[in-house]
Formats: sequence, C-alpha cells, structure tokens
Amino acid sequence: MSANLTFKPLSSWIKYDQKPLVIAGPCSAETEEQLLNTARALKKLNVDALRAGIWKPRTRPNSFEGNGVVALPWIQTVKKEVGLPFAVEIATPQHIEEALKYGVDILWIGARSTVNPFNVQEIADALRGVKVPVLIKNPINPELALWIGAIERIYNAGVENIAAIHRGFSTFQKGKYRNDPFWQIPIELKTIFPDLPIICDPSHIGGKRDLIFDLSQKALDLNYDGLMIETHLDPDNAWSDAAQQVTPDRLAEILSDLKIRQASS
Ligand code: PEP
Ligand code: MN
Repeated sequence: MSANLTFKPLSSWIKYDQKPLVIAGPCSAETEEQLLNTARALKKLNVDALRAGIWKPRTRPNSFEGNGVVALPWIQTVKKEVGLPFAVEIATPQHIEEALKYGVDILWIGARSTVNPFNVQEIADALRGVKVPVLIKNPINPELALWIGAIERIYNAGVENIAAIHRGFSTFQKGKYRNDPFWQIPIELKTIFPDLPIICDPSHIGGKRDLIFDLSQKALDLNYDGLMIETHLDPDNAWSDAAQQVTPDRLAEILSDLKIRQASS
C-alpha cells in the first residue's frame, strides 16, 4: 500500500537512558511561573523531554486557546534552566517559524491537523530544509490512511526524524475512554512502517487521570518506544484538560510501577 519508508530510531535523535522515552508537561503553558515550576519538578524525575501547548486547537470556541507567542520566551527560560528538549504543537507555517525562532526542539502535529491533508501539506512545505524532529499524532477520527498520509507528507518533505503519537480516536458513542484507543490501528501502522518509532499519549486516550497507568502499561506491553503524559502541578485547576493531568508525584509513581517490556531482538 505504501512505499518503503525508513525511519531513524528514536534514540538516535532524542537522548534517553532507558525505554520508554518520557515526554511530560502541562497540556497548556499557562504562566511563566507554572511552566518553570513544572519543569523543575519534572527535571527531578529524569523525564527526557518537556511538552506544553501554546497554540491550543480547542474543539469549541470560548475555551482557553493558549498564550501563543507570548509563551515562547518562557520556553527559552525553561530550557536554559533545566536543559531538557522542549516539544510544542504547531498547526501552521507561522507557528513553525515562530517556534523555531525561539529554539523549540521538537514539533508535534495535533490530531485536528493530521485529519486535514491541505493542513499537513502546508506544514510539510514549511518544514522543507528544516532540521527538526516531528511527532505526528493520529487523526482525530479512526482513519489509518490519514495517519499514513500525514507521515508520508512530512517524510517526503525531507524530515528525517519522525515518530507517531497514538492519542486515541474520537467516536460519537462515548465509552470508558475520552478517545477510543483502537489499538489495532497503531498495530497496523507498525506493520506498514515497522521501524517508525511510536509514542503513546495515554492522557488524551483516557481523558481521566485514573486511566493513565493501565494505558501506559498496555502501550509498553505492545513495545511502544515512548510515553507523552500531561503533568500539572495543580491538575484540578488546569486551564485545559484538567481531568486527565497528573501531578509530578503521581507521574513518578506511574513511571516506577510500569513494567518495561524489553525488546526480544
Ligand atoms: C494536546 O496534546 O494537548 C492536544 C491538544 O492533543 P490532541 O491533538 O491529541 O488532541
Ligand atoms: Mn491536552
């Protein structure tokens, strides 16, 4: 179905001492103080990279839509103090230009962008000739071809360091999860692109913090390479995704309780 694409191992472009790679941080960068204090707490846990949304693609208007460029200098300050790579969601060529100007290390394409080939192609064209790793979340709907297409568009733009993020799929009938994991979809993706690194985002799959551990363990049982877990100092009062964020203390427990499946090869 798809041309043979070859992907570099995650460990060749993000430093992490042991599997899984852990990316943690708040759903949204709310204030400079929040970002800095969260980053300090996460540094103590030895996470491998930080995350925070600054352009937030909210499904409905009148929710917090992110601080935008105002938050970029905060990221610079955090990077200077804690020295960890920082990942941010981008959705337009303008976002890419601004994020790179401020030294953002890793870009990710959100589920509401992956769903739109015009949007993905615009992003891909803006990434041509730019050396930055790109994480590609699954599309919001359970459509494997859109995920594959987004990966191909970014790859064809010459981006060398790519990973997929599995964040679950929206369905009309809500079950246990905010977004149904449909594990067979990422499993199928891996049969098409066997060396594509894959990261699980249990926060957006679960939608509730009590589900994060089991979802993370399931991802590791399936030999995923990494986890992206939303972490907030005061989750109940988070400006976005309050129900699913965990405190740094809870993240530490989750990480220490996970049983890592070692690759058999
Ligand atoms: C997020 O990571 O905060 C986010 C908005 O993710 P998604 O695109 O998976 O909904
Ligand atoms: Mn979120």
